[in-house]
Amino acid sequence: SDRLTSVLQNLRSKGRLTDADIDSTAREIRIALLEADVALPVVRDFIAQIKQRAKGAEVSAALNPAQQVVKIVNEELIGILGGETRRLQFAKQPPTVIMLAGLQGSGKTTLAGKLARWLRNQNHAPMLVACDLQRPNAVTQLQVVGERAGVPVFAPEPGNGVGDPVDVARRAIEEGKRAQHDVVIIDTAGRLGVDEELMKQAADIRDAVQPDEVLFVVDAMIGQDAVTTAEAFRDGVGFSGVVLTKLDGDARGGAALSVRHVTGQPIMFASNGEKLEDFDAFHPDRMASRILG
Ligand code: GDP
Repeated sequence: SDRLTSVLQNLRSKGRLTDADIDSTAREIRIALLEADVALPVVRDFIAQIKQRAKGAEVSAALNPAQQVVKIVNEELIGILGGETRRLQFAKQPPTVIMLAGLQGSGKTTLAGKLARWLRNQNHAPMLVACDLQRPNAVTQLQVVGERAGVPVFAPEPGNGVGDPVDVARRAIEEGKRAQHDVVIIDTAGRLGVDEELMKQAADIRDAVQPDEVLFVVDAMIGQDAVTTAEAFRDGVGFSGVVLTKLDGDARGGAALSVRHVTGQPIMFASNGEKLEDFDAFHPDRMASRILG
């Protein structure tokens, strides 16, 4: 933020880092983080961490105080965002099973297509599975996405009633093995709010197929709400990684910091548009710059 920049510029003229410098800089960083929609408890923890490290830091000959504070903030932010990008864990025995979970509208179905296409471009042979049997259009939507991605979609046969998502998931794994798909991506139902029944359904699918990865898909635009949503999915289903969507919007990305801090799980991918190719591995360093503004 502009404010942060000017505080850091003031520090630049000084010879050494005093406690007062650290406190005033911490105040501005706190504001920058809150403006980026980072949840308040997360901001508090982070600031405490920065202060402790800054106070214990050796005065560096090579850096002026401002550079030193910037360096610490940046390093801590990148560290809290996960440091290195974590890669997908592939199963020793294919197929690798990836389950997607998240609120309705978070971008889950779109992400399923993006991930499938991304994997296909890396010479994998993924298959998509339609286990969102709640929303009338969800199966068709996944079929459309699959067609665009050039990836087959396993779905319950029409005319067989609504179907049981757990049964569909189980049969999909069998079909995946039979047709030699090395990755099976399971789209699950999302509700508008956190919902006990939905959580139980997702947990039942998880128990039935024992996924190698459960990816929690979260819309970067939901800001502060990301914390409660992430906690609910962590407790209800559990997840091994996070996908942040809609980063093409104007969200500063505070959701990333909050989710990572609260759940301890890495952010693995970033979605930044409606097109299938608007997708990449998550880069903590880029997100750190974005959050600091
Ligand atoms: P689901 O209900 O979680 O399966 O969400 P959808 O995949 O249907 O996405 C909900 C809406 O968000 C759709 O209109 C998508 O086109 C849109 N969407 C998904 N991902 C992104 C993204 O990264 N950026 C933008 N701008 N829109 C997205």
